[in-house]
Amino acid sequence: MDYDIWVSGYTDPFTGELRDLGVKDGIITYNGRFYDGVKHTVRAKETVTAAGRLVLPGLVESHIHLDKAFLTQRMSREADSLSDAIGMTAALKKDYTFEDIMRRSVAVIERSMQAGVTHLRCQVEVDPIIGLLSMEAALQLKELYRSLMTIQLVVFPQEGIFQQEGTEELMRQAVAMGADAIGGIPYNDTDAREHLEWIFKLAEETGLPVDLHVDFSDDPSHRTIVDIADLTIAYGLQGRVTVAHLTSLGSMESDDARVIASKMAAAGIHVITLPATDLYLNGRGDSYKPRRGLTPVRLLLEEGVNVCFGSNNIRNAFTPFGKGDPLDIALLLGQTAYMGTRADAVLLLEMCTTRAARALNLEYGALACGSAADFLLTGASDICDLIYDRTPERIVWKNGLRTAETALNKFVISPEPIVRRA
Ligand SMILES: [Zn+2]
Repeated sequence: MDYDIWVSGYTDPFTGELRDLGVKDGIITYNGRFYDGVKHTVRAKETVTAAGRLVLPGLVESHIHLDKAFLTQRMSREADSLSDAIGMTAALKKDYTFEDIMRRSVAVIERSMQAGVTHLRCQVEVDPIIGLLSMEAALQLKELYRSLMTIQLVVFPQEGIFQQEGTEELMRQAVAMGADAIGGIPYNDTDAREHLEWIFKLAEETGLPVDLHVDFSDDPSHRTIVDIADLTIAYGLQGRVTVAHLTSLGSMESDDARVIASKMAAAGIHVITLPATDLYLNGRGDSYKPRRGLTPVRLLLEEGVNVCFGSNNIRNAFTPFGKGDPLDIALLLGQTAYMGTRADAVLLLEMCTTRAARALNLEYGALACGSAADFLLTGASDICDLIYDRTPERIVWKNGLRTAETALNKFVISPEPIVRRA
């Protein structure tokens, strides 16, 4: 057989071109213009007639907390602020067990896989309350799902490093167990600068990238990001630092924000906006003209900063909503960050595919020949329909293996092994 899978006549979401895709041994070995004519015979084990529907490169979930997902049923009320959400979740953490973390994490991973996610970076909590339990579960999940989803683990000191004695040693142990990135949360510690310097030193020692929760506030005086830009350059980590939230930047005067954004661009810092959480928790203190509480996506892009988005949390005190579908977040961001054009729809898709992959330093071929066959066929033929409808029909392949199918009867999959192309 020439191919294991042959996808005939799909629409490329970025260019609008009609194309064919061939997969052999888990690798994309053909991606070219669709030929309707009958010129050459192609032999394939499975033929998928896309009939002009969109094929997307595998979706990338760039920032998610598996270990504290699905906690809303254990909460007696909703959180009224970020610090309240942190406190409520820390209290619930005491009752986590290994099986409990696994069960809730699997629920998120399975939903994400169904949505078309092929790459996922999760934030793994490490602190004296939970010890290394979350990391042990995360490592098992990474191994369990190895052939179905690429999972990266960020070792993350949610309760701070210096305000919780013993965290430094636990962080080092967790990193040694197999972290893919060093996490940090300078706004939840005794000294933000000391916190950052500790993280960057550990990154230097281990050679790992840095992934931080930063300036999660609607207060424009919060600008830890400036220190992060300086440290990124000082440690030579350009392109290997991501920051999530960064919402205080959205409350600044735009001239002020632009100066910081251009500094970030020079340091190659990637931004992960988390609208489901940011819109929910920010702006609550404003009784008049409440602030929107998002990072200024457009301004960052204009200054040359790579921006992508993540789900962050699924059903907990930080975010009582969500089902792990990146297209839900794409629509939410489009609606709230003034991204309503066709070009914006393409940009929103980039933010959960190519841009997210760049932020996570992933090996990610985006349907290129020679790259892993990580892709999904959707029920939409148009990029705007895809984002605005969050089209539920999806068939997902990871390394050429079909991992999920939703509403399969919407598709025409030929039982015939023979298709034709030029
Ligand atoms: Zn987070």
